[in-house]
Amino acid sequence: MKLVVTGGAGYVGSVCAAVLIEAGHDVVVIDDFSTGNRDAVPEGAMLVEGNIVDVIDGVLAEGGIDGVLHFAARSLVGESVGEPAMYWHDNLVVSLVLLDAMRRHGVTSLVFSSTAATYGEPEEVPIVETAPTRPTNPYGATKLAIDDAISSYCTAYGLGATSLRYFNVAGAYGEHGENHPTETHLIPLVLQVAMGYREKIMIFGDDWPTKDGTCVRDYIHIRDLADAHVLALEANQPGEHRIFNLGSGDGYTVREVIETCREVTGHPIPAEVAPRRAGDPAVLIASSARIQQELGWNPTRTELTRIVTDAWHFTRDLGERSHGAR
Ligand code: UDP
Repeated sequence: MKLVVTGGAGYVGSVCAAVLIEAGHDVVVIDDFSTGNRDAVPEGAMLVEGNIVDVIDGVLAEGGIDGVLHFAARSLVGESVGEPAMYWHDNLVVSLVLLDAMRRHGVTSLVFSSTAATYGEPEEVPIVETAPTRPTNPYGATKLAIDDAISSYCTAYGLGATSLRYFNVAGAYGEHGENHPTETHLIPLVLQVAMGYREKIMIFGDDWPTKDGTCVRDYIHIRDLADAHVLALEANQPGEHRIFNLGSGDGYTVREVIETCREVTGHPIPAEVAPRRAGDPAVLIASSARIQQELGWNPTRTELTRIVTDAWHFTRDLGERSHGAR
């Protein structure tokens, strides 16, 4: 298939683009490098540099596009609270422009990068797709609004779409890993301590109602996540919007993550307890039963040690590359 991947220079977008190319698809990456890295665009992808709003018509007008995978987005929860306008514009408005361009050019298959943040504070874990959606920050609210728009476009205009609601994506694949200009995620931050870039990791609260008092999250390997996108694309049906959670179904506490990073890196990784971070739910664990049953998705890299080991190799290699470049 010939596919457009928006945000193909970002962490998730670049891995998915690489996996699609490996599977034999032609990939056109659209990215404006506002947060993505030029080096992350996979070899073999055709790159269109620019904002989706400016370039999407030209790309789709070329014809022959079978589907779009839409990753380009703002994705920092804290930033979304301080700058909601940027989030509503860059996430919702840009997605609507994309949906309308697809409609105009008769492109009827979409895979959308959604998030567990659409659910907010869960009433029950593991979280199933029928759980109430009550996002607790603008980031989650923008993604939920896009999911709603996609549903109505599917019903009214025959779009076939899948929204994948990611839990805590981590790990690396080949040369592709997490390398954000502003890092807020636990595993890459802990690994930065092991690299000597940071003195210590702050644990945001140790008085949560969990087994060791720190928050529990469901970490999913980026490669398992990418596989789900390929399955979703193949299963899209005109007029249908499917929504699937993507996680490993296992929960690990912040302390368990830090301990695993110590084992993998051999570094003592000093940690200090800090106040809770605003907006953090105590426990987030996905039920991915629906995608396993309906699409036959079968995650194989669910061990936290495997996820951290892959992330560590990427972080170390990146450190060596940037050191060598100096
Ligand atoms: N966390 C932490 N210290 C950090 C970064 C994150 O204790 O420096 C905790 C955070 O409070 C949450 C978990 O690690 O409970 C995972 O956070 P992350 O930002 O990686 O993902 P989120 O669950 O917010 O999507």
